[in-house]
Amino acid sequence: MTNPIEYLKGVGPIRADILKKEAGIFTFNDLLNYFPFRHIDRTQITYIRNITSETDYVQVKGKITSVEILGESRGRRLVATLDDGTGELELVWFQGIQWIQKSLHIGAPFIVFGKAGFFMNTPQITHPEMESLNAQNQAAKSFLEPVYPATEKLKTRGLGGRELGKLTFALLQMLSEKEVPENIPVIILQKFQLVKRFDAFKNIHFPACKEDYENAVKRIKFEELFISQMRMGILRFKRNTFSKGLVFSKVGSLFNDFYSGSLPFELTGAQKRVLKEIRKDVGSGRQMNRLLQGDVGSGKTVVALMAMLIAADNGFQSCLMAPTEILSFQHFESLKSMLKDLPVKVGLLTGSTSAKERKAILKATIEGEISILIGTHALIEETVQFQNLGLAIVDEQHRFGVAQRAKLWDKNKINPHILVMTATPIPRTLALTAYGDLDYSMLDEMPPGRIPITTVHRMQYARPQVMNFIKTEIERGRQAYVIYPLIEESAKLDFEDLMRGYEEVKAYFPEPKYYISMVHGRQKPAQKQANMNRFVKGDTHIMVSTTVIEVGVNVPNASVMVIESAEKFGLPQLHQLRGRVGRGSEKSYCILSTKVKLSAEAKQRLKIMCETNDGFKIAEKDLDIRGPGDVEGTKQSGLLNFKLANIVADRKILEAARIAADNIIDEDPGLVSTENYCLKNYFEQTKNKTAWSKIS
Ligand code: ADP
Ligand code: MG
Repeated sequence: MTNPIEYLKGVGPIRADILKKEAGIFTFNDLLNYFPFRHIDRTQITYIRNITSETDYVQVKGKITSVEILGESRGRRLVATLDDGTGELELVWFQGIQWIQKSLHIGAPFIVFGKAGFFMNTPQITHPEMESLNAQNQAAKSFLEPVYPATEKLKTRGLGGRELGKLTFALLQMLSEKEVPENIPVIILQKFQLVKRFDAFKNIHFPACKEDYENAVKRIKFEELFISQMRMGILRFKRNTFSKGLVFSKVGSLFNDFYSGSLPFELTGAQKRVLKEIRKDVGSGRQMNRLLQGDVGSGKTVVALMAMLIAADNGFQSCLMAPTEILSFQHFESLKSMLKDLPVKVGLLTGSTSAKERKAILKATIEGEISILIGTHALIEETVQFQNLGLAIVDEQHRFGVAQRAKLWDKNKINPHILVMTATPIPRTLALTAYGDLDYSMLDEMPPGRIPITTVHRMQYARPQVMNFIKTEIERGRQAYVIYPLIEESAKLDFEDLMRGYEEVKAYFPEPKYYISMVHGRQKPAQKQANMNRFVKGDTHIMVSTTVIEVGVNVPNASVMVIESAEKFGLPQLHQLRGRVGRGSEKSYCILSTKVKLSAEAKQRLKIMCETNDGFKIAEKDLDIRGPGDVEGTKQSGLLNFKLANIVADRKILEAARIAADNIIDEDPGLVSTENYCLKNYFEQTKNKTAWSKIS
């Protein structure tokens, strides 16, 4: 199967070259995996008298009874008549007239295929496919004919959709189950009524009927999902079993003092459960690799903090990596204040930390004086050395690539424990697929006392009312956000909008009665931070900003979020933005402001936002609307690019494949049993070709 494609009869070096360049077909196996995108049904012969205006593509068998050239210049055409004994069919060509005419002899038998139409009550086919009848070719095809995707180059070099079919046919003739061995254990095949692997490959190309084709597709989709789930499951198992982890054996005074003395609220049941899961991991002697999902406002930060206190209790340092400077700074401030009564030193390191400060922080970090280091991706730079990093936490995971995550791994001789936190809710099945190599915790409970955010949609012309509403909220002591989109493609116009918006808001809210902060990406980090801080402290009433505010920022006193041009945002982003309000005990509002004319999809998004506050419901809807390719947090993972399977449309198959894979890993993780031999064999054969080691 790994034979180079030029060894296939009928290919040779020149065509092989084109196949490689144009279709990525390098080996026999690649050709077998080059699937048709549709099939033509040539298994039936239709009688001409049965052709009606409803008929689509037909295949007819008959004899040529007349051939003539009609019309002038552009209307010039070749018209032939085919008779099958039940009626007459007209065949018409506007191109290649001379060449075709030569092959059409009166009385010659043909099988004709094409899209049937009617002209003056006579059935006809324009530019039919013709096959002259001979000894081997007496009847209809015994299988559906595949049509392959082919680029212009492939076509002009004689490797169009049909020729690819011929090559694949020839290849399949040579192959048997030996070359395409089964890789799914028989029990699973039976349980899910899946066809054998070799049959699936035969039938995805040359099925006898539609049902055979569908069974082949189902089998191959299942295989894709099952194999990927197996791979991740094995990875997870190996790590859980063999990887050495730092042992945090005790929960000490830092954790306990914080819990009883400093924690300003009772933990939710979900927070307690997740902390237990984390404690179990870090005490087990194996390395923790855990994904923590929790909707915006579910209280991930305090979970992270308490996990870091366990590390500190055991003499280990921790770091918390956040995607933006603003967020790093906020984490720093809030952790510092929560820890003010405890002997735990917290440090902050970002791109805008001054050289002098930086030097001091790096020193304190390597000497172990700093227990908790917070920062942006500045943390992963090589100059950042810890004395004994025990726990690395990545906040808002989707902003970081897998590679960046991996750099944190190496900051200690024994890999530190890893906790990845994400606030972009991903539907459970998707999370398990995309992050199947991580263990999974979920904060599925909001802190008590939250009053649901009321979300409304307003047209831009209603701005005066919106501004008045903000005014009444400010009079009640609250603060407000006004958010503008800033999209790369339209950065200049968007920036002008933001500035205009700022002036407008200022006109409604003049100084000195009101103060406004503005934050956007063109400001220097220090300026951004200063403006942000004034809002956090309550010195300003309104924050006008772009989406730099999107992630994590916490100002519980803010009760209004106005999102301008809300139609330009995707659902996850709208949900993230909205999560900036409703964080305190006050009733909060989100106003989605749009122009009047909206696309159907934009309307749908706005409607969903007004209907629900549940991030997971929104994520599901988003998945339905956009498909998985765009789901945040999955893009970089590259794990969701299956050839046939679509994890939205094929959710049921995915779930089945996951359960099947998990069962095997529970019962026979080493794949040593006879039933699982085929799987083991498959993994061994495909080992070197995969890049799975990169994932974790
Ligand atoms: P996120 O999960 O979005 O990161 P945060 O950790 O920022 O959420 O928490 C949101 C707000 O909820 C913060 O003000 C935090 O202090 C508060 N909070 C967290 N846990 C609880 C709890 N158990 N009870 C009450 N308030 C809580
Ligand atoms: Mg957060």
